[in-house]
Amino acid sequence: MNKFFLFFIVLITSCTNLPLIEKASYCSFPAHKPYPGGMVNYRFMDSDIDLEKKLIAEGLKYEVCRDNSSSINLLIPIPLSFEKEQLKISLSDELISSIDIENRFYRESRITIKNQDLVKPPDSMQKRIKEEYIKGIALKNIFTDQNLKGREMVIPVTGIKSSEFGVRRYINGQPRNRHTGLDIAADEGVSVIAPLSGIVILADNFFYKGNVIYIDHGNGLITSYSHLSKKIVTLGQSVSKGQTLGFVGSTGRVTGPHLHWEVFFLGIPVNPEIFVKEEI
Ligand SMILES: [Zn+2]
Repeated sequence: MNKFFLFFIVLITSCTNLPLIEKASYCSFPAHKPYPGGMVNYRFMDSDIDLEKKLIAEGLKYEVCRDNSSSINLLIPIPLSFEKEQLKISLSDELISSIDIENRFYRESRITIKNQDLVKPPDSMQKRIKEEYIKGIALKNIFTDQNLKGREMVIPVTGIKSSEFGVRRYINGQPRNRHTGLDIAADEGVSVIAPLSGIVILADNFFYKGNVIYIDHGNGLITSYSHLSKKIVTLGQSVSKGQTLGFVGSTGRVTGPHLHWEVFFLGIPVNPEIFVKEEI
Protein backbone atom coordinates (compact mmCIF):
# COMPACT_ATOMS: atom_id res chain seq x y z
CA MET A 1 0.00 0.00 0.00
CA ASN A 2 1.53 3.31 -0.99
CA LYS A 3 1.77 6.42 1.14
CA PHE A 4 -0.92 8.29 -0.75
CA PHE A 5 -3.47 5.57 -0.22
CA LEU A 6 -2.70 5.29 3.48
CA PHE A 7 -3.22 9.02 3.92
CA PHE A 8 -6.47 8.86 2.04
CA ILE A 9 -7.87 6.18 4.32
CA VAL A 10 -7.08 8.33 7.36
CA LEU A 11 -8.67 11.40 5.78
CA ILE A 12 -11.91 9.86 4.55
CA THR A 13 -13.44 9.31 7.96
CA SER A 14 -16.96 9.51 6.56
CA CYS A 15 -16.65 6.38 4.52
CA THR A 16 -14.06 4.31 6.31
CA ASN A 17 -16.34 1.55 7.49
CA LEU A 18 -18.76 1.44 4.61
CA PRO A 19 -18.81 -1.08 1.81
CA LEU A 20 -17.71 0.56 -1.43
CA ILE A 21 -21.01 0.07 -3.25
CA GLU A 22 -22.95 2.17 -0.74
CA LYS A 23 -20.68 5.15 -0.73
CA ALA A 24 -21.95 7.00 -3.78
CA SER A 25 -25.40 7.81 -2.42
CA TYR A 26 -23.97 8.98 0.89
CA CYS A 27 -21.53 11.45 -0.61
CA SER A 28 -23.79 13.23 -3.08
CA PHE A 29 -26.51 14.02 -0.53
CA PRO A 30 -27.51 16.61 0.58
CA ALA A 31 -27.14 18.54 -2.67
CA HIS A 32 -24.89 21.60 -2.92
CA LYS A 33 -26.70 24.45 -1.07
CA PRO A 34 -23.97 27.02 -0.52
CA TYR A 35 -25.63 29.60 1.73
CA PRO A 36 -25.37 30.43 5.46
CA GLY A 37 -27.34 27.65 7.15
CA GLY A 38 -26.89 25.35 4.15
CA MET A 39 -24.12 22.98 3.10
CA VAL A 40 -21.44 22.96 0.49
CA ASN A 41 -21.22 19.65 -1.34
CA TYR A 42 -18.40 20.08 -3.81
CA ARG A 43 -16.89 17.37 -5.95
CA PHE A 44 -13.20 17.21 -6.76
CA MET A 45 -11.63 14.88 -9.27
CA ASP A 46 -8.64 13.01 -7.85
CA SER A 47 -6.53 14.44 -10.64
CA ASP A 48 -7.28 17.99 -9.41
CA ILE A 49 -6.42 17.50 -5.78
CA ASP A 50 -3.35 16.33 -3.93
CA LEU A 51 -4.66 15.05 -0.62
CA GLU A 52 -1.22 14.63 0.84
CA LYS A 53 -1.46 18.36 1.53
CA LYS A 54 -3.59 19.85 4.31
CA LEU A 55 -7.00 21.00 3.16
CA ILE A 56 -8.23 24.29 4.64
CA ALA A 57 -11.74 25.74 4.17
CA GLU A 58 -11.30 29.10 5.92
CA GLY A 59 -11.36 27.38 9.30
CA LEU A 60 -14.75 25.71 8.74
CA LYS A 61 -15.22 22.06 9.65
CA TYR A 62 -15.55 19.65 6.75
CA GLU A 63 -15.94 16.01 5.88
CA VAL A 64 -14.32 14.29 2.93
CA CYS A 65 -16.31 11.49 1.35
CA ARG A 66 -15.25 9.24 -1.53
CA ASP A 67 -17.93 9.15 -4.18
CA ASN A 68 -16.31 6.85 -6.68
CA SER A 69 -12.87 5.72 -7.61
CA SER A 70 -11.89 8.99 -9.27
CA SER A 71 -13.50 11.75 -7.20
CA ILE A 72 -14.20 12.91 -3.67
CA ASN A 73 -16.94 15.09 -2.21
CA LEU A 74 -16.18 17.84 0.24
CA LEU A 75 -19.08 18.48 2.64
CA ILE A 76 -18.99 21.75 4.59
CA PRO A 77 -21.79 23.01 6.85
CA ILE A 78 -22.00 26.82 6.51
CA PRO A 79 -22.72 28.58 9.82
CA LEU A 80 -25.54 31.14 9.87
CA SER A 81 -22.93 33.70 10.93
CA PHE A 82 -20.78 33.21 7.79
CA GLU A 83 -20.67 36.55 5.97
CA LYS A 84 -18.17 36.13 3.13
CA GLU A 85 -19.32 35.97 -0.48
CA GLN A 86 -16.81 33.28 -1.33
CA LEU A 87 -15.43 30.29 0.52
CA LYS A 88 -11.83 29.67 -0.41
CA ILE A 89 -10.57 26.09 -0.39
CA SER A 90 -6.81 25.71 -0.07
CA LEU A 91 -4.38 22.83 -0.06
CA SER A 92 -1.54 23.96 2.17
CA ASP A 93 -1.00 27.50 0.83
CA GLU A 94 -2.33 26.86 -2.63
CA LEU A 95 -5.84 28.09 -3.49
CA ILE A 96 -7.65 25.32 -5.37
CA SER A 97 -11.22 26.61 -5.48
CA SER A 98 -13.44 29.56 -4.57
CA ILE A 99 -17.03 28.55 -3.91
CA ASP A 100 -19.65 31.29 -4.31
CA ILE A 101 -21.75 31.65 -1.15
CA GLU A 102 -25.30 32.66 -1.97
CA ASN A 103 -27.09 35.37 -0.10
CA ARG A 104 -30.17 33.95 1.59
CA PHE A 105 -32.97 36.02 3.04
CA TYR A 106 -33.91 35.24 6.61
CA ARG A 107 -36.94 37.08 7.94
CA GLU A 108 -37.17 38.84 11.28
CA SER A 109 -39.62 37.89 13.98
CA ARG A 110 -40.42 40.64 16.49
CA ILE A 111 -42.60 39.85 19.45
CA THR A 112 -43.58 41.81 22.55
CA ILE A 113 -43.98 39.98 25.84
CA LYS A 114 -45.25 41.97 28.81
CA ASN A 115 -44.76 39.31 31.50
CA GLN A 116 -41.09 39.75 32.50
CA ASP A 117 -40.99 36.26 34.07
CA LEU A 118 -41.37 34.86 30.57
CA VAL A 119 -38.70 37.16 29.08
CA LYS A 120 -36.07 36.43 31.69
CA PRO A 121 -36.09 33.06 33.46
CA PRO A 122 -35.97 33.16 37.28
CA ASP A 123 -32.53 33.23 38.94
CA SER A 124 -33.24 29.84 40.54
CA MET A 125 -33.21 28.32 37.03
CA GLN A 126 -29.92 29.84 35.82
CA LYS A 127 -27.71 26.96 37.01
CA ARG A 128 -29.95 24.38 35.32
CA ILE A 129 -30.14 26.42 32.09
CA LYS A 130 -26.34 26.72 31.95
CA GLU A 131 -25.83 22.99 32.51
CA GLU A 132 -28.32 22.16 29.77
CA TYR A 133 -26.66 24.64 27.41
CA ILE A 134 -23.26 22.97 27.96
CA LYS A 135 -24.81 19.52 27.51
CA GLY A 136 -26.37 20.69 24.23
CA ILE A 137 -22.99 21.84 22.90
CA ALA A 138 -21.41 18.47 23.75
CA LEU A 139 -24.28 16.53 22.13
CA LYS A 140 -24.29 18.38 18.82
CA ASN A 141 -20.54 17.87 18.48
CA ILE A 142 -20.57 14.10 18.95
CA PHE A 143 -18.85 12.30 16.11
CA THR A 144 -19.07 8.54 15.70
CA ASP A 145 -17.66 7.03 12.55
CA GLN A 146 -20.19 4.21 12.46
CA ASN A 147 -23.91 3.67 11.97
CA LEU A 148 -24.49 6.14 9.12
CA LYS A 149 -27.30 4.77 6.94
CA GLY A 150 -27.40 7.58 4.43
CA ARG A 151 -28.32 11.20 5.03
CA GLU A 152 -31.69 11.50 3.33
CA MET A 153 -34.43 12.03 5.91
CA VAL A 154 -38.22 11.81 6.06
CA ILE A 155 -40.24 14.60 7.70
CA PRO A 156 -40.52 13.68 11.41
CA VAL A 157 -44.08 14.94 11.90
CA THR A 158 -47.12 15.72 9.77
CA GLY A 159 -48.01 19.37 10.32
CA ILE A 160 -47.58 22.95 9.17
CA LYS A 161 -44.27 24.78 8.99
CA SER A 162 -44.76 27.51 11.56
CA SER A 163 -41.27 29.00 11.82
CA GLU A 164 -38.42 28.50 9.41
CA PHE A 165 -34.81 27.78 10.22
CA GLY A 166 -32.63 30.87 10.59
CA VAL A 167 -35.28 33.44 11.58
CA ARG A 168 -33.76 36.53 13.29
CA ARG A 169 -35.66 36.83 16.54
CA TYR A 170 -36.28 39.89 18.69
CA ILE A 171 -38.16 40.00 21.97
CA ASN A 172 -39.22 43.46 23.14
CA GLY A 173 -36.78 44.91 20.60
CA GLN A 174 -33.79 42.95 21.94
CA PRO A 175 -32.01 40.53 19.54
CA ARG A 176 -32.13 36.87 20.61
CA ASN A 177 -30.34 33.82 19.23
CA ARG A 178 -31.15 32.92 15.64
CA HIS A 179 -33.74 30.18 15.24
CA THR A 180 -31.52 27.13 14.73
CA GLY A 181 -34.35 24.69 14.14
CA LEU A 182 -37.44 24.27 12.04
CA ASP A 183 -40.83 24.49 13.77
CA ILE A 184 -43.65 22.23 12.61
CA ALA A 185 -46.98 22.92 14.29
CA ALA A 186 -49.26 19.95 14.89
CA ASP A 187 -51.87 18.90 17.42
CA GLU A 188 -50.75 17.69 20.81
CA GLY A 189 -50.23 13.92 20.67
CA VAL A 190 -49.35 13.59 16.98
CA SER A 191 -46.51 11.06 16.52
CA VAL A 192 -42.95 12.27 16.00
CA ILE A 193 -40.87 9.74 14.08
CA ALA A 194 -37.15 9.29 13.52
CA PRO A 195 -36.34 10.75 10.08
CA LEU A 196 -33.31 8.50 9.82
CA SER A 197 -31.94 5.58 11.83
CA GLY A 198 -29.58 6.25 14.71
CA ILE A 199 -28.86 5.97 18.41
CA VAL A 200 -30.66 7.99 21.11
CA ILE A 201 -27.99 10.08 22.84
CA LEU A 202 -30.36 12.10 25.04
CA ALA A 203 -33.92 11.63 26.31
CA ASP A 204 -34.46 14.24 28.99
CA ASN A 205 -36.38 17.32 30.10
CA PHE A 206 -34.75 20.72 29.55
CA PHE A 207 -35.92 24.14 30.75
CA TYR A 208 -36.26 25.68 27.28
CA LYS A 209 -36.64 22.58 25.11
CA GLY A 210 -39.03 20.70 27.41
CA ASN A 211 -39.09 16.95 26.74
CA VAL A 212 -36.24 16.53 24.28
CA ILE A 213 -34.57 13.74 22.33
CA TYR A 214 -31.23 13.83 20.50
CA ILE A 215 -30.24 11.19 17.95
CA ASP A 216 -26.77 10.41 16.61
CA HIS A 217 -27.04 9.21 12.99
CA GLY A 218 -23.28 8.74 12.62
CA ASN A 219 -20.48 10.66 10.93
CA GLY A 220 -21.23 13.96 12.66
CA LEU A 221 -24.94 14.03 11.81
CA ILE A 222 -27.08 14.74 14.92
CA THR A 223 -30.78 15.67 15.17
CA SER A 224 -32.96 16.87 18.04
CA TYR A 225 -36.71 16.97 18.82
CA SER A 226 -38.03 19.44 21.41
CA HIS A 227 -41.25 20.28 23.31
CA LEU A 228 -42.59 16.70 23.16
CA SER A 229 -45.61 15.85 25.32
CA LYS A 230 -44.13 12.41 25.86
CA LYS A 231 -40.99 10.55 24.78
CA ILE A 232 -41.09 6.80 24.32
CA VAL A 233 -37.46 6.01 23.55
CA THR A 234 -34.63 5.84 26.04
CA LEU A 235 -30.95 6.75 26.18
CA GLY A 236 -28.77 4.37 24.18
CA GLN A 237 -31.69 2.90 22.24
CA SER A 238 -31.20 2.15 18.58
CA VAL A 239 -34.01 3.58 16.44
CA SER A 240 -34.87 2.91 12.83
CA LYS A 241 -36.12 5.35 10.20
CA GLY A 242 -39.85 5.91 10.76
CA GLN A 243 -39.91 4.62 14.35
CA THR A 244 -41.98 6.71 16.80
CA LEU A 245 -39.82 8.71 19.22
CA GLY A 246 -42.59 10.50 21.10
CA PHE A 247 -45.50 12.88 20.58
CA VAL A 248 -45.96 16.55 19.79
CA GLY A 249 -46.46 18.72 22.85
CA SER A 250 -45.87 22.12 24.35
CA THR A 251 -43.37 21.37 27.13
CA GLY A 252 -40.58 23.88 27.82
CA ARG A 253 -40.78 27.53 26.74
CA VAL A 254 -43.40 27.57 24.00
CA THR A 255 -46.67 29.27 23.13
CA GLY A 256 -48.39 26.27 21.52
CA PRO A 257 -47.85 22.64 20.51
CA HIS A 258 -45.19 22.14 17.85
CA LEU A 259 -42.03 20.21 17.10
CA HIS A 260 -38.77 22.17 17.15
CA TRP A 261 -36.55 20.05 14.89
CA GLU A 262 -32.82 20.64 14.67
CA VAL A 263 -30.17 19.11 12.42
CA PHE A 264 -26.48 19.51 13.22
CA PHE A 265 -23.65 18.52 10.94
CA LEU A 266 -20.18 18.54 12.51
CA GLY A 267 -21.66 20.62 15.35
CA ILE A 268 -23.11 23.30 13.07
CA PRO A 269 -26.90 23.84 12.92
CA VAL A 270 -28.09 23.56 9.31
CA ASN A 271 -31.48 23.90 7.66
CA PRO A 272 -33.33 20.57 8.15
CA GLU A 273 -35.16 21.14 4.85
CA ILE A 274 -32.03 20.35 2.83
CA PHE A 275 -32.14 16.77 4.17
CA VAL A 276 -35.68 15.97 2.99
CA LYS A 277 -36.90 15.63 -0.56
CA GLU A 278 -40.57 16.46 0.10
CA GLU A 279 -41.87 19.99 0.70
CA ILE A 280 -42.61 20.67 4.36
ZN1 LIG B 1 -38.28 26.41 17.13
